[in-house]
Amino acid sequence: MSDERQLRNFHDRDAEEQNAFLENTWCNRCQQVDLGMSDPVEFTLNGRLFIEGQCRVCGETVTTELVEDDDVDG
Ligand SMILES: [Zn+2]
Repeated sequence: MSDERQLRNFHDRDAEEQNAFLENTWCNRCQQVDLGMSDPVEFTLNGRLFIEGQCRVCGETVTTELVEDDDVDG
């Protein structure tokens, strides 16, 4: 088991997908959704996929976990 970050290339994604991920954020400092992030870095950790960047409003690190399986509620 590794608990180290494995970097992936966020920019391999479609531009549309990139934009969606960059806009769908939650900032802990601002306590608001969808403020956007800059400087995105994509990585996996413990088998889970994350995108991390800086909040466009306050510069705080924001992390989005991507859920790519089809575990959809309702
Ligand atoms: Zn913020």
